[in-house]
Amino acid sequence: MRYSCLHTHSTFCDGQDAIETLCSRAYEKGLLSLGFSSHAPVYRKTGFRTDWHIPEDRFEAYLDAVRLARLRWEGKLQVFLGLEIDYIPGCMGPGDKEYQDLGLDYRIGSVHYVIPPQGAPFTVDDSPEVFARGIREGFSHDPEALMEAYWDAVEGMIRTGGFDILGHADLIKKNNPQGRWFSLESPGYQRRIQGIAETLGASSIVVEVNTGGINRYRIPDTYPSLAMLRRLQAKHVPVIITADAHRAEDLDGHYEEARETLLQAGYTHMVLFQGSSQGRPCWREEALE
Ligand SMILES: [Zn+2]
Ligand SMILES: [Zn+2]
Repeated sequence: MRYSCLHTHSTFCDGQDAIETLCSRAYEKGLLSLGFSSHAPVYRKTGFRTDWHIPEDRFEAYLDAVRLARLRWEGKLQVFLGLEIDYIPGCMGPGDKEYQDLGLDYRIGSVHYVIPPQGAPFTVDDSPEVFARGIREGFSHDPEALMEAYWDAVEGMIRTGGFDILGHADLIKKNNPQGRWFSLESPGYQRRIQGIAETLGASSIVVEVNTGGINRYRIPDTYPSLAMLRRLQAKHVPVIITADAHRAEDLDGHYEEARETLLQAGYTHMVLFQGSSQGRPCWREEALE
């Protein structure tokens, strides 16, 4: 079977490799297509200073570089122009009008930030220390409150819409090894992922099965987990395998495990991106076996 990677970071944001290096490696690996999804700039909208989003003054250069790569690789590798856009309640989200007017092939909507009741916003995939401090200072020592805030943001983003692919749906588990802070089996957690599955089932959003946590942090499974994928499958939510690659070598990292997980969850097909027409993404089904 043929794969693609639509979740790819380059040196324009926090990836290690240049656009051309990533295209060459994707071609060598036999990928059908490669989509770039740099982290959309956040500074102008939030005032957050980060080293992992595209700097505001490099944004046009990013769009141009991917468009040029698309021309250079025509006939050999399909290259797509995307963005990974943060949903930050009250500040910005992938549904904002400006992202609809950029001529992007697709948009990934992702929640990294939570806004705690007190203290500074933080990202749930930051270091274990930042995560622990966020629970302590932002959520008054209540990890369940953080978990609920995370899922509230994901739910809010899906309901707002304006994007095509849901990024790393259960990123909140990254800093929760062995259920250190909250149980993924608890009725409260299961109720949240069931709610997300139902909201997605009523949308046209595709969920990525993201191997980035396995590739980069040795977390044991994909985003989303098998348990969540089972719930998504029951609601007929389409899925695509992506690597969330931050270096060329990872462009198809652990894809076979992702495929196995999908089969275990009851999926028989994933989707492949065919490009967009009049601003709407076109997908085709690909059998997993
Ligand atoms: Zn992300
Ligand atoms: Zn990413």
